[in-house]
Amino acid sequence: MKLGIVGLPNVGKSTLFNAITQAGAESANYPFCTIEPNVGVVSVPDYRLNVLRDMHNSEKVLPAAIEFYDIAGLVRGASKGEGLGNKFLSHIREVASIVHVVRCFDDSNITHVDGSVDPIRDVETINLELVFSDIEVVEKRIQKTEKLLKSDKSLAAELELSKRILAALEEGISARALEYDEKENELLKTFNLLSSKPIIYVANVSEDEVAEDGANNPYVQKLREYAKSESAEVVVICAKIEEEISELEDEEKQMFLEELGLKQSGLDRLVQASYSLLGLISFLTAGPKEVRAWTIKNGTKAPGAAGKIHTDFERGFIRAEVVAFKDLLEHGSHNAAKEKGLVRLEGKEYVVKDGDVILFRFNV
Ligand code: GDP
Repeated sequence: MKLGIVGLPNVGKSTLFNAITQAGAESANYPFCTIEPNVGVVSVPDYRLNVLRDMHNSEKVLPAAIEFYDIAGLVRGASKGEGLGNKFLSHIREVASIVHVVRCFDDSNITHVDGSVDPIRDVETINLELVFSDIEVVEKRIQKTEKLLKSDKSLAAELELSKRILAALEEGISARALEYDEKENELLKTFNLLSSKPIIYVANVSEDEVAEDGANNPYVQKLREYAKSESAEVVVICAKIEEEISELEDEEKQMFLEELGLKQSGLDRLVQASYSLLGLISFLTAGPKEVRAWTIKNGTKAPGAAGKIHTDFERGFIRAEVVAFKDLLEHGSHNAAKEKGLVRLEGKEYVVKDGDVILFRFNV
């Protein structure tokens, strides 16, 4: 699953993307990820992996990873084909969610495409391009549904939904800002609209404002209010600092963060926010050879989780031996947890939880 980084020119996208590719996970460990110059693969920080490594004396630690796709070049007029506009919009269509970088720093040396720093205007500029593109999609859909409705009355609900969305889009409102019931949500997925994709706003602030999480930065405050209206999240970072951090080794990185008064890098916070925005969780496997985090959608059942490791595991699934990470942590070892009866045997219907440490039993 990919996230697409968008934003107006000169807001700090390339700087953030550089940080992502430099901090980048060892791509050999992630053969499933796309290797393209504009794709960056980042590990999902997970302290549980190191705890498990120490418990099992494991040779290798493999964190989960997510991919960021650099979608530069989105400008005002993109939906009308300005500046390669349509190509960029089609790139956005391919991603699961959007990371929208917004300039929240003053710096007279760095020109702004619209002459001044104004995060809401910037956000609306880009969101409107997505809305314009969606209007075309929904209008076509309405025409088609109206025709088909004559012979298929079951499409009435779809037509009604399309019209409701169109009315909002025509007011400049993103489809994600509307409320949907479960059935409508399923329908909405089939539209694949750009303005309904989940979004994280990244407020790019100056070096001296990052420690206080942008609390005294009026641009960030405005952006937070705006994001709230869409139930979206804001992650405050300083792209320049992230670029510097990404060049450091782990130990130096920790020291540098402490000097800045930060617990975690902005990139780590962004990755974690992205992971939960996508509805993803990790289950873990642990042994002397390797400790590994595997990414699944929240709600995945045990055989589906097994299939992430190997299709044979899913096909021949018998049972999963499951222990919650917190139980392992509390009792110190797999054996101790087992003695307490905390290692469970789960079947096909078991819904895997975040932090489950699992050993699959299967037939080959
Ligand atoms: P892009 O066009 O959105 O990819 O923007 P860039 O990443 O190329 O950044 C544009 C300019 O802003 C560059 O000169 C960066 O060094 C600068 N820049 C990026 N992030 C920050 C920041 O957090 N603070 C300051 N002062 N400058 C930044």
